[in-house]
Amino acid sequence: IRILAFESSCDETSTAVIKNGREIESLVVATQIKSHQRFGGVVPEVASRHHIEVITQITKQALEQAKASWKDIDAIAVTYGPGLVGALLIGVSAAKAASMATGIPLIGVDHIMGHIMAAQLKDEIEYPALALQVSGGHTEIVLMHDPIHFEIIGDTRDDAAGEAYDKIGRVLGVNYPAGKTIDEWAHKGKDTFHFPRAMMEDDDYDFSFSGLKSAFINTCHHADQIHEKLNKYDLAASFQASVVDVLSHKTMRAIKQYKPKTFILGGGVAANHGLRDRLAEEIEKLPSDIKPKVILPDLKLCGDNAAMIGAAAYNLYNAGKFSDEHLNADPSLELPYAQSMLN
Ligand code: ATP
Ligand code: MG
Ligand code: FE
Repeated sequence: IRILAFESSCDETSTAVIKNGREIESLVVATQIKSHQRFGGVVPEVASRHHIEVITQITKQALEQAKASWKDIDAIAVTYGPGLVGALLIGVSAAKAASMATGIPLIGVDHIMGHIMAAQLKDEIEYPALALQVSGGHTEIVLMHDPIHFEIIGDTRDDAAGEAYDKIGRVLGVNYPAGKTIDEWAHKGKDTFHFPRAMMEDDDYDFSFSGLKSAFINTCHHADQIHEKLNKYDLAASFQASVVDVLSHKTMRAIKQYKPKTFILGGGVAANHGLRDRLAEEIEKLPSDIKPKVILPDLKLCGDNAAMIGAAAYNLYNAGKFSDEHLNADPSLELPYAQSMLN
């Protein structure tokens, strides 16, 4: 089964051809980050214009690189939410047009399901699985009953982890998106500031990062007022220590509670070396009867890309979950098929 996938939910336009949900035959990612940097974040109107400029060209490229033509494609997959509505609509329109013109079936994919399924491109997922999904707009612990039935068991009450990285990065004068640089700085510093670890002792799987962000900003602001120069590496290390402590603490608790066969880290923040190392280390310490297999996606598949959408679409294809010409962008889409599992 060969799937042509589209992703255009935010500031990356991407196309890919994925074989059997596991093998990347081609992947093209056109990033617009440079266009948004001077605004310190993604400008929706600018994002849509960029998507429309490149989408036909990169569709041809994905087919060419996979040495495929339309007749080799079994399904066309596209992210239809969550994300920026104008950005999503470009991918959805392109995929619908391609599907209508060729008669190839269409599959709408949830972007977050896609992030989690980046793991499937690396290794086989055994179910039930548990994922920590950390990205620019989401911070969730997801219980995966099978490849398409997901249940959110923990969520952020305010900021997402990636969003917190980007906001404190701005205070330190780091270009958007700041996560990668802060991660690098963190490895050159020490946790000297001991920022708060919110909700650590709470009896749930939820998160909160706005208190940490405020503590960070107040510390920098106070130092400015008294003309004290703080060490940026220690600031980054202290911030990251707090984020990693909270994320790994709650994740480990969920693993002990639900005993999944596979643990998956997903989303843009899954590229964070501090988080990857800590989770791998903590899971390694578990007794062997509850130790899940760990899948950390390749670094280049943590951020937004169409390969992960093609991987998720393969599972929907197998389950017969197709879309029709009424498929529309849904900017606030929540993980599908989750509700039916909750009772
Ligand atoms: P969502 O997927 O929730 O809809 P998004 O698509 O905008 O949001 P992603 O592209 O998945 O988010 O991830 C981007 C985020 O990942 C940014 O906030 C960025 O700072 C963060 N990020 C990237 N690399 C790292 C890293 N090494 N450490 C921490 N954060 C990182
Ligand atoms: Mg992005
Ligand atoms: Fe994303």
